[in-house]
Amino acid sequence: MKGYRWTCNACSFGNDSNKTHCTNCGCSSTAGTEDIEKHKNPEGFNKRTKIEEYKKQVLPLLFSPCFLAIYMHNGKIEIALLLFISVSFLITKNLKLLQYICTDKKAKTMLVTFSGVLLVFFLVRIYLIPNNSSLVGWGLMFYFMFTFGFLFYFSKGKRFSRLFEQFYKES
Ligand SMILES: [Zn+2]
Repeated sequence: MKGYRWTCNACSFGNDSNKTHCTNCGCSSTAGTEDIEKHKNPEGFNKRTKIEEYKKQVLPLLFSPCFLAIYMHNGKIEIALLLFISVSFLITKNLKLLQYICTDKKAKTMLVTFSGVLLVFFLVRIYLIPNNSSLVGWGLMFYFMFTFGFLFYFSKGKRFSRLFEQFYKES
């Protein structure tokens, strides 16, 4: 008895029912969207995942000055030290990428400004605004809007995607 044939989702090749992977491109018969894209367009898939990885490496660096300040203020010196070590590690690991970002003045300014504003915001909150002030709520709202706005621009905006894409091409 002949089983049914299945059509590969990546390359549309017809495969025998006893095959778990496509004979033509190697894609699994139960592949998810990620897997299908990987087989359909390996170059594009690599580029996209690499660019996402670059972004994930850069993000913690932007938040670290502000977290460092908070931990120092709370007297959690061990955590601050640990944070400092991991940040140094991240910087060393991504030195070329960071240097590349610095060649784009606007991108560099935006990242430094974002990181700086967060730091100043938390310093003001810690040292100038008492806990019972109504400013705490407004500040929190500002913090979320500012952070989410920036993160959205950073992950979806053209400037950073183009910048990371160029770095990917050159490396
Ligand atoms: Zn296939």
